[in-house]
Amino acid sequence: MSTFWTEVLNAAANHSFQLTPGDLLSPLDMVFPNVPPAPGMPCAGEDRSIYRRGARRWRKLYRVNGHIFQAKRFNRRAFCAFCQDRIWGLGRQGFKCIQCKLLVHKKCHKLVQKPCSNEHVDPVEVKDDANGESTLGRASSVRSRAEPEPPLPETPPAPAPPAPVRPEDLEPGSQRQYSLEDFELIRVIGRGSYAKVLMVELKRTKRVYAMKVIKKALVTDDEDIDWVQTEKHVFETASNHPFLVGLHSCFQTPSRLFFVIEFVRGGDLMFHMQRQRRLPEEHARFYAAEISLALHFLHERGVIYRDLKLDNVLLDHEGHIKLTDYGMCKEGVRPGDTTSTFCGTPNYIAPEILRGEEYGFSVDWWALGVLTYEMLAGRSPFDIAQAADNPDQNTEDYLFQVILEKTIRIPRSLSVKAASVLKGFLNKNPVERLGCGENGFLDIVNHPFFKSIEWEMLEQKQVVPPFKPRLEGERDLANFPPEFTDEPVHLTPDNDTVIADIDQSEFEGFEYVNPLLMSLEDCV
Ligand code: ADP
Ligand code: MG
Repeated sequence: MSTFWTEVLNAAANHSFQLTPGDLLSPLDMVFPNVPPAPGMPCAGEDRSIYRRGARRWRKLYRVNGHIFQAKRFNRRAFCAFCQDRIWGLGRQGFKCIQCKLLVHKKCHKLVQKPCSNEHVDPVEVKDDANGESTLGRASSVRSRAEPEPPLPETPPAPAPPAPVRPEDLEPGSQRQYSLEDFELIRVIGRGSYAKVLMVELKRTKRVYAMKVIKKALVTDDEDIDWVQTEKHVFETASNHPFLVGLHSCFQTPSRLFFVIEFVRGGDLMFHMQRQRRLPEEHARFYAAEISLALHFLHERGVIYRDLKLDNVLLDHEGHIKLTDYGMCKEGVRPGDTTSTFCGTPNYIAPEILRGEEYGFSVDWWALGVLTYEMLAGRSPFDIAQAADNPDQNTEDYLFQVILEKTIRIPRSLSVKAASVLKGFLNKNPVERLGCGENGFLDIVNHPFFKSIEWEMLEQKQVVPPFKPRLEGERDLANFPPEFTDEPVHLTPDNDTVIADIDQSEFEGFEYVNPLLMSLEDCV
């Protein structure tokens, strides 16, 4: 297949950027390939590690005259090899050839006549002076100024910039910012492709939080810094919604970034699906409806979530859902706007992304279709269990081909309404997909599958969840996999050589304290 993504994957294989080691030619997502001997037991030959397959970004490459250009931002002054003008680093207007390192403007890259020498030539890149022209010290506000994209919709307002904490919100003697010393690290509770998540206690109040820890070394890549900013913004926006994990504070050490977030005690849907195999329709309906409200909230605020999957949907102590992990989100998207980054988790990536098309909010409704299918059927709609022995069919390319071309078979055991909602979300044409038409979200609300849902009550958490996670006390970790909770909780000491390679200016302004949570804490 000579499609866009094959080329990108091949290039990625050669240059090994953006891909987590070991992730590249991993076996396919076969979510629940078999019937276990008893609920909760592993299936014959089951490898539990395949369930938690990470989210990834693929980087776009542009080929001109033998050059392979990649969008870049520059911390140093850079000049275009074509028009000689300065390339402003903000917003990735620069393109750099990954072979010969030639720098050009994005707008000039197609005009470059000089062929790629395939050898390294020194780019015109000058260390910036301290006159404020560089992208150094970039913080939230710079990102929005830098992005040539439209602003967020007028109402509701865009997330407020980190509000300064008023002294009256603070307890006497407490600090303005948090640091690692303020927390006791209790247990490891999860891992994703980028982060390790710990259960921690804020020593001063004895309150429990989750702490998402990201190594800066993973983020120093030019493109990656954007997702950290985005993740922080979306966490801030999310703090106001019952079905989204909110933010307590952010801080950093020389080697790591820390997001202190709400601890959601009931574990993630992946954990529960592994124990229950498949869910009754009533349960799946409840989760799908709460997730729809969370997605709709994000969409209304110009955010495409882009990484909906079982391991990013958490259950709180009552059994309501909460979405977490905003590292793949795209911000600043107005109705009708599109974007084109190739990213996501393979099993959940929408066909329009695979086709290399521009896409919008539609990709989240596709992923909700995949997830709802998994809840109802106990396996992925792209389950290719029988292909596991054939190495040709055991690749990501094959999975993508299946997503693009294969007609999805709905198990006959499902009700007509369930089959209809799945077909609606899993329409390969985003224009015809449920939730993507003129009526948008209303079409989901009015779908027969959701007929019994009282949406307003649901949004106010007034509907009793169908399943309550078993929990003995606030710190019970029964809903988190032992493979995580048995891990030693400490963070490895900083390595000086690794730190020396980190440009700390990339992370200036990362610190944040949620003023609302601060004053809540003071009420204890
Ligand atoms: P990544 O960006 O690396 O995928 P995530 O934010 O998804 O990291 O976190 C990894 C895992 O940690 C999740 O799949 C979930 O099981 C667990 N987790 C994340 N956030 C929380 C939270 N706030 N409360 C409880 N568990 C969480
Ligand atoms: Mg995740």
